[in-house]
Amino acid sequence: MKEMLRDYARSIGLTLFGVASAERFDGLPQNVHPASILPEVRSVIVIGADIPRGNYRGVEEGTLWSFASKYLDQRLVLDMARTIEQQTHFEAVPYLAHFPKVAPRSRPVAPDRPMYNVTINLEYAAVAAGLGEISLLGQLLTPQYGNRNTLGVILTELELEPDPIYAGTLCDGLACRECIAVCPAHSINPDKTVTLDICGRQTVLAEINYNLCRLCPNGAAPDFINKVGQEELMVEFSGNQPKIVETSTALTRRNVPNIATAVCSRTCLNHLEKTGRLTQKYVNPFRDGEPWRLETWER
Ligand code: SF4
Ligand code: SF4
Repeated sequence: MKEMLRDYARSIGLTLFGVASAERFDGLPQNVHPASILPEVRSVIVIGADIPRGNYRGVEEGTLWSFASKYLDQRLVLDMARTIEQQTHFEAVPYLAHFPKVAPRSRPVAPDRPMYNVTINLEYAAVAAGLGEISLLGQLLTPQYGNRNTLGVILTELELEPDPIYAGTLCDGLACRECIAVCPAHSINPDKTVTLDICGRQTVLAEINYNLCRLCPNGAAPDFINKVGQEELMVEFSGNQPKIVETSTALTRRNVPNIATAVCSRTCLNHLEKTGRLTQKYVNPFRDGEPWRLETWER
């Protein structure tokens, strides 16, 4: 069944497909746990596609500002969910990226229920499904495409064999620091990191001052979909229990910027290609000189 679903995903243009068992989310709090949405969840399927490298070209050249969203086209998520239900007769819940509803305001529908808008962390789910790792910048890196990924999640009662956790290393973290060095605003703090444990895989995340990223003239964009802190890994996980970190406290009340095409992320992509980490190859390098940067916030 899993191979049939993987083949179907491929047939509709999806280039990423991974399965996590529900147990891989054990220990997470109710408001980010798949079982809060689907109590009988057995498998979490993460699907996705690569964002074409050409999508970054205009920003890289400083000419055409395009947007690279990490949210997979919702029609594809719905298509997969529909196919799972039709082929297996098990329920499949598409976890759709959308503007969160705000009612009922400020309280759960019952005392034993989590707050509304349970949020599945896309990056956590992707790592749990064996698709890759999370970088120092908090982005999903896949061995095929680096940080050029767009993702969708489906929760299902269907039991599928989970994929192994990715065992390679793509981000060298503090031994690399290229993203840190290129950021003109010094938004990424190498002296303040948090360690995330996902299914036994340790990931070091640097604290990022998203208040500065929100003003970044180097390719960042708003992300109007996400208004919830956990979605962007703005929490420190310790023993799979989240703890809001200092910088995120303010941010959980506001939307988080999309830094996918900012100079930090493009530098990361260039670094991963240059060091031969990625399996998707190109005839010409992504970058052949120093990137442009607006050094100042005085525009
Ligand atoms: S540039 Fe990329 S690989 Fe290097 S530390 Fe930053 S996130 Fe990691
Ligand atoms: S988005 Fe801009 S300000 Fe934020 S880390 Fe990247 S380069 Fe720095």
